[in-house]
Amino acid sequence: MFPQHRPRRLRTHPQLRRMVRETVLTTSDLIYPLFAVPGEGIANEVKSMPGVFQLSVDKIVEEAKEVYDLGIPAIILFGIPTDKDVDATGAWHDCGIVQKAATAVKQAVPDLIVIADTCLCEYTSHGHCGYLQVGDLTGRVLNDPTLELLKKTAVSQAQAGADIIAPSGMMDGFVQAIRSGLDEAGFQDTPILSYAAKYASAYYGPFRDAAESAPQFGDRRTYQMDPANAREAIKEIELDIAEGADMLMVKPALAYMDIIWRVKEACNLPVAAYNVSGEYSMVKAAALNGWVDEERVVMETLTSFKRAGADLILTYHAKDAAWWLG
Ligand SMILES: [Zn+2]
Repeated sequence: MFPQHRPRRLRTHPQLRRMVRETVLTTSDLIYPLFAVPGEGIANEVKSMPGVFQLSVDKIVEEAKEVYDLGIPAIILFGIPTDKDVDATGAWHDCGIVQKAATAVKQAVPDLIVIADTCLCEYTSHGHCGYLQVGDLTGRVLNDPTLELLKKTAVSQAQAGADIIAPSGMMDGFVQAIRSGLDEAGFQDTPILSYAAKYASAYYGPFRDAAESAPQFGDRRTYQMDPANAREAIKEIELDIAEGADMLMVKPALAYMDIIWRVKEACNLPVAAYNVSGEYSMVKAAALNGWVDEERVVMETLTSFKRAGADLILTYHAKDAAWWLG
C-alpha cells in the first residue's frame, strides 16, 4: 500500500511552494562591507574580489547612498590607513580613515546604520591584531595591553558617529573592555556586535588584499579559533554575552553553518553570519567562468545562512541580493 503522504503535493505550484516556504530572505537581513582608503575620487577594484572596491571617503558616501536606496539597512566599515605603526595609531586617531568615513556617511545618509569594525590589524606595521612583544616573530599578540587600544579605537569610532561597534580581534575580554570604554565616554546606548566565534580561516585570503592586512610573519592561530572546534564556540559566545555583547557573529559562514546553528540554539541574542571574502571570490570566479548561475547560487547560500539561524548576514553580495530581491 502506498503511504498516505506524498510531500510532492505541496510542491506542485509556485504559489503553493511560496505558501509553505519556511525561510524568507529579506533585504533587511543584509549588511554591506566597505573598505575606506585615503584620497579623493579613488575606486580601486580588489583583484581577487571582482565588484569590490577600496573607496575614498567621497566614493564611500556615494556608495552609502546607493546601499540605502536599495533598502539595505547597514554597512560595516574597514579602513586602510596611509601609515601603519606598532601602536596602530590609524585605528584610534580622530582623523583615522574609518572615523572620517563614518562621519561623512552619517552626515550624508543619517538613517543608514554604520557599523565600525574594531580591530588593529589593518593599522599595525606587522599586520597582527594588537601589540606584540618586542622581537616576537610568531604573532602571539599580547592580550591585555591590546585591550586598551581596542577601547580607545571603539570610543573614537563612536565619537565619529558609528552606530554599532564590532570588535573582531578575538582578544580575551575585549567586549568588556570596549563596553566599559564606551560607557565611560557616554556611549551607553551604542551596541556591541561581537565577532564572538571567529575562526583562523583560509577563506579570509582575498580580504587581506582588500584590507591590506596580511600579517608580515606568523599567523593568527594564537587568537582566532581552531576550525575543528565547535563546543569552544559556545564557550566564546557565553563569555561575550556575560561581558555585555548585544549581538554575536560567526565568521566565516559557509563552512560553519553548524556553528551558526549551535550558537543560535545556545543564546537569545541576534546572530550575524559573515559570508567572507573567499566564499564570495569562489562564487564570483565560477560565475565569471559560466560554471554556476550566480544569482541562484548566491540566493541559495544566503537563504541557507538564514535557515541555519543567522538573523543578519554580512556579505559582499548584499547589493546584488537586494537588487534580485526587488
Ligand atoms: Zn584584526
